[in-house]
Amino acid sequence: MKAIFYSTKSVEKSLMLHANNQRHDLVFTTRTLSTETTSFAEGADAVVVFTNDNVTAPVIHKLAALGIRYIATRSVGIDHIDRVTAEKYEIKIANIPAYSPQAIAEHAAALALALSRHLVQASQQCQHFNFSLNNLIGFNFYGKTVGLIGLGHIGKAAIPIFKGLGCKIIGYDILPGQNLPDIEMVDLDALYKNADVISLHIPLNEQTEHIIDRTSIEKMKTGVMIINTARGSLIKTTDVLDALRTGKIGYLGLDVYENEHGLFFEDHEADQVRDPLLSELMRMPNVLITPHQAFLTTEALEEIAHQTINTLNSWEN
Ligand code: NAD
Repeated sequence: MKAIFYSTKSVEKSLMLHANNQRHDLVFTTRTLSTETTSFAEGADAVVVFTNDNVTAPVIHKLAALGIRYIATRSVGIDHIDRVTAEKYEIKIANIPAYSPQAIAEHAAALALALSRHLVQASQQCQHFNFSLNNLIGFNFYGKTVGLIGLGHIGKAAIPIFKGLGCKIIGYDILPGQNLPDIEMVDLDALYKNADVISLHIPLNEQTEHIIDRTSIEKMKTGVMIINTARGSLIKTTDVLDALRTGKIGYLGLDVYENEHGLFFEDHEADQVRDPLLSELMRMPNVLITPHQAFLTTEALEEIAHQTINTLNSWEN
């Protein structure tokens, strides 16, 4: 089948071609999918997107008019796709349910450790030959309580990592009956009350949007560390910013940001106007932001390519 890949990163293209082994006709563009770029899909059977492609009703309407029958996303999350509209046009949707949960769990741990030991500031100071220690006091993870919200593929992969650091691990998942080793399942309020570090591993949907807001933050320990490698809109950024200002939140590690669409995955260094909320967050020494890169390991990219081509194979069959 013919498939057009939107938002293709240079590193992905060769992996996709390798996995494809010349079976399908693949066309790549670095452009994001929008009502302005749907025409690139003319003549294709399938459209392959990523998290920054807004697959909204107007976009799907145009794709359907072009005869597109399939939309595959090279991601776990599907919050960027209007599934109801796709269903209306009988367009099939596929995601990648799990490609390398360890990649994301390890990135969450990397953010947490880098924050606790002030690694970014330390490195910046060292580069200026400033080897003083005054502002670099960290804390041990050993003995701390880590609260995992969401115990699917990624939440589960985070358990042995934090266990290995000597943490007590508590968790909450909407699905009851998770009988997992090395973790105590608790209700959400108990997690907020007891966790020194909270790491989010849930999908974005109507139920989870802004799950971290003023009300939930009030229930947390003063000085809590929050790590979000899941989706930006799980966090109400303005409320978190307020809590960072008062010290209620001690540390914040974000791989995803509420307003990242049209910003992340691209170089905006020359922009005259910059997102003020993000700029303020980045000025804080206890905030660490990465550009939605938790998935970006060789192993994960190979698996994404492999599973994307498998999806095209299944549809063709
Ligand atoms: P998963 O589907 O395997 O697990 C999600 C878990 O969340 C499930 O156990 C589910 O029961 C639970 N859940 C759903 N709604 C809940 C709620 N309201 N409260 C508590 N638990 C709830 O997904 P996963 O592979 O673990 O991925 C989790 C999320 O991470 C994805 O949805 C995606 O948004 C994000 N993600 C980010 C990156 C990145 O690069 N930053 C990469 C992959 C995935």
